[in-house]
Formats: sequence, structure tokens, C-alpha cells
Amino acid sequence: MQAALAEARAAAAHDDVPVGAVVVISGEIVSRAGNERELRSDPTAHAEVLALKSASQASGSWRLDGATLYVTLEPCPMCAGAALLARLERLVYGPQDPRAGAALSLYNIVQDPRLNHWVDITFGVLEEESRALLRSFFEPRRPEVPSYTETAAGTSRRPRGGVPKRP
Ligand SMILES: [Zn+2]
Repeated sequence: MQAALAEARAAAAHDDVPVGAVVVISGEIVSRAGNERELRSDPTAHAEVLALKSASQASGSWRLDGATLYVTLEPCPMCAGAALLARLERLVYGPQDPRAGAALSLYNIVQDPRLNHWVDITFGVLEEESRALLRSFFEPRRPEVPSYTETAAGTSRRPRGGVPKRP
């Protein structure tokens, strides 16, 4: 998560919202990326998508079995969707995002029994550091800084007995 935070700080340097992500496979960082939406003028250039893409390139497969994605903020619906499509094993993130979060807050795309994959979630990791970074980015730019929920850290894992059947 410290490596993801370093990517988030680097993103702010090119005026992108400071969010960073790294992908870890077998205990090793295989890719790292920061948000580059402004830098690339690309609405899909979120840190998570960029990190997942380069992890797939590095490992030679779109399937990232056993991989963990560390990200400094709860992923949006697009990134949660990308994590699901990559067949990630685990998602670890900092603060929850009540305005756009799609891995527990607004939606839980990565743990929907109607879809074909399940990603375990650990949240609230280095949450204070991530929120401080976001706050210092937004404060000079907006009169009202978005609030990223203060939550106790936690996990959301595959239920005992497996994922419920499709309704
Ligand atoms: Zn996203």
C-alpha cells in the first residue's frame, strides 16, 4: 500500500486526483500506476485499470489468478468491473468512497453472486494517509472537499459454504 501511495502522490504532480494502485503476484509487485486521466485526456485511465493492464502484459495473461490489487481509494464501477474481469483474488483499498465506490459502498460489483467471479476485499488500509492526500489535493481546488468516509478497517470474504447461488 505504501507503493500505491507513492503512485498517488506522483499523480497529483500532473494534476490528477491522487489515486495509486499496484498489483502483487506471489508477494512481488508486478505493476504500479497512478491516475492519469488528465495526463492522457482519457476517462478510463484510472490507476487500477492501468495497473491491471500492465500486470497482464507482464504476466502474459489477462487472467491474474492469485493476484492482489492494492489501491488507495475504493474502486469505481469501471475499475471494480476490471478487477472482476481480471479474476483477481483479492482487493485491498484505503478509504471507502460513498460517492462512487463499487466495492462495498454504492455497489459491490466484485462480490455479486449473479456474476461469475468473487474477489475478497480488505478495506481501510492506510486509510488516513490516503484521505490526507485526497484532502490536500481537493482543498485548494474546491470550496467543498468531498468526504471519504471514515470507517473502521475490515474485510469482506467469500462466505463459508461458498457464494450464494444466482437468484
Ligand atoms: Zn476507477
